[in-house]
Parts: sequence; C-alpha cells; structure tokens
Amino acid sequence: MSIVEFKQVTKRFGDNIVLDDISLTIDKGEVVVVVGPSGSGKSTFLRCINKLEDIQAGDIVVNGLSVNGTPAQVRELRREAGMVFQQFNLFPQMSALENVMFGPVHTRGMDRAQARKEAMELLAKVGLAERVNHYPNELSGGQQQRVAIARALAIKPKLMLFDEPTSALDPELRQEVLKVMQLLAEEGMTMVVVTHEMDFARRVGSRLIFIDQGRVAHDGPPAELLSDPPSQRLKDFLQHVA
Ligand code: ADP
Ligand code: MG
Repeated sequence: MSIVEFKQVTKRFGDNIVLDDISLTIDKGEVVVVVGPSGSGKSTFLRCINKLEDIQAGDIVVNGLSVNGTPAQVRELRREAGMVFQQFNLFPQMSALENVMFGPVHTRGMDRAQARKEAMELLAKVGLAERVNHYPNELSGGQQQRVAIARALAIKPKLMLFDEPTSALDPELRQEVLKVMQLLAEEGMTMVVVTHEMDFARRVGSRLIFIDQGRVAHDGPPAELLSDPPSQRLKDFLQHVA
C-alpha cells in the first residue's frame, strides 16, 4: 500500500530546478534513507511531501491526499506526516510535556487529560519519563531531539519525515536519537530519513535513495548500494561522508 507517491514532480526556486521530474512510490513500513551532496534537494524533497514547499509541476499524494488538493485536504495531509528537523524547534517556554501535548490539544482538539496521558506515554517511549517537566534549555541536544520526535508522534502520523535529525548533535548524543528512530522503524512506522549516518542507513534502512542534481540517481537496497556503489558520483559522495 503506497503512503507517498511522487508523480513527475518538478520543484523550482526561480530558475533553479531543484527536483527534476521525480516519480517514485513509498510503501507502508518502508524506511527510506535519502542521501546526496549538500544542496542537492534533500530537504526540499521532504518539505514538498507535507507542502512546506509548493511544487511547480506534477503531483504528490500522501495517504490518498494530494498536495494540489483543497486547503482542507492539505491541512489533513500535513497531519499525516510528522516532521523532525535538524534544529529541534521546540517551544522554549513550554516543558517537554507541554511541547508534546500542544499538537493534540490545539490542532486535534483532544481533551487535556487524554493528551497528557498520551504525551507521558510517548515521552516514556523515547526514554524521557524522568524529564517530562524539564524545559528545553534544561535538556541536552539529544534529549531535546527525542522530545521533538515524541511531539511529532503525538499527532499520530502515518509517516515520519526526518531532516538530518542528528547533524546538530555531538557524536556521543547521536546514538540515543538513532536508537529511538530504530525502535520506530521496528514498530513498522513508515519513515523518510535524510541523514549522513551511513551505519543507520545500512542497519535500519530498507531503501536508499541517492539524489543528485535534482534527480533520483540511485534507488535500491542500502547494503548493495553502499558496498558496491554503481556510480563514481555515489562513490565520491560516500568517501566524502565516511
Ligand atoms: P539539501 O537539503 O540537499 O542540502 P536543499 O533542499 O536545502 O538541499 O536545497 C536545494 C537547492 O534549493 C539549493 O540550491 C538551495 O540553494 C535551494 N533552495 C532551498 N531553499 C530555498 C529557498 N527557500 N529559496 C531559494 N532557494 C532555495
Ligand atoms: Mg538539507
């Protein structure tokens, strides 16, 4: 069952063609790792999925909802996809618990008691049961990013989008975030992950996409593409990130 479908998608910023006629399908339960050189369009690719960016041609369908649909359909589409950014983007004036409760209460109209109960469960799941009343500035980067993951999960998305979730973290804090992501993958969450963590790609990814010059240059099993890169461009890229 397809969760995301790109149909001949073109995305331009002015004359700059960032996504060039991309067609692909992402099925339920896939963990798609997206890699590519800086500026190749990885963030734009993710942002188009929940219409944080407009596309100039083609269509993207998320769980049956088109980015070209009515405003009501687009609002619904946005709620299908939880997003986690490199910079955690937590609300600084709210505790971890309040950050996670915010979406369900304010965008889904859930009653506070229920939202609180679910937020506690999510924070426990990401290993932060002891930190629910802490504010972002009292948490490490890894803890903040785990709150951000819990917050994204709170709206019960059909799919999770991660844009370099560990790039702003010190190496010793990256694993705690990657472990949470691996747990989600093992639970069957559909995920699209932009990352330079090749070890994660190999162990957890079910599919690797290499974006280069606005095109999907390679799309296949991570182990295969990583151990035997089919192009010099991918070889060069992998040497660069290793
Ligand atoms: P990546 O995430 O792979 O580093 P991006 O998706 O951020 O790449 O950017 C792809 C291209 O689109 C780059 O050339 C970048 O300069 C351009 N770009 C991204 N966002 C904008 C924007 N808001 N306005 C104009 N150009 C942009
Ligand atoms: Mg980016």
